[in-house]
Amino acid sequence: MNKQRELDTIAKEIEDCELCKVAKSGMAVPGEGNPDAEVVFIGEAPGRQEAATGRPFIGRSGQLLRGLIRGIGLNDEKDVYITSPVKYLPDRGTPTSDDIAHGRIHLMKQFAVIQPKLVVLLGRVAAEGVLEKKVFVSKEHGQVIEEKDGIKYFLTLHPAAALRFPQKYKPLLQEDFQKIKKLLATA
Ligand code: URA
Repeated sequence: MNKQRELDTIAKEIEDCELCKVAKSGMAVPGEGNPDAEVVFIGEAPGRQEAATGRPFIGRSGQLLRGLIRGIGLNDEKDVYITSPVKYLPDRGTPTSDDIAHGRIHLMKQFAVIQPKLVVLLGRVAAEGVLEKKVFVSKEHGQVIEEKDGIKYFLTLHPAAALRFPQKYKPLLQEDFQKIKKLLATA
């Protein structure tokens, strides 16, 4: 089976998954992008605009993220894959640990298909969802926090943090993306 078809099969599983939908609403947002991407960006959970369309990172955080991706010379639709540990909009806004733990099942299947070289973790929920690790983002961001099975895991801030506190966090996010650019150049 080709990679896109395998990802489509996983997306269908997510659409049919009753556990994913507990205390959540809207459309499934399985993720999208290049099935052969070397870089995968992992967020938190869909927001309202994502849940209304089924597409990841298309709201305000998404515009910022996609601009940063383009700023390091990548096409946000053709070069990378974008998804999150939680695939539906949580009723309470922030996903629970159970949501994150359950979402990992689908996310790991997506990784197994894409086989990225670099995974960019956008914040705390992404780190918990992918690495099952509690991180202190404001201290640990801007570096590869784990490397295993040939995959580097780079931690940065969630773009929503930079929208909320632009003076404090936007420059940090921009610096981190320059580091991502360097990592890709040396990979
Ligand atoms: N925030 C996320 O983490 N993911 C989205 O898709 C949108 C906003």
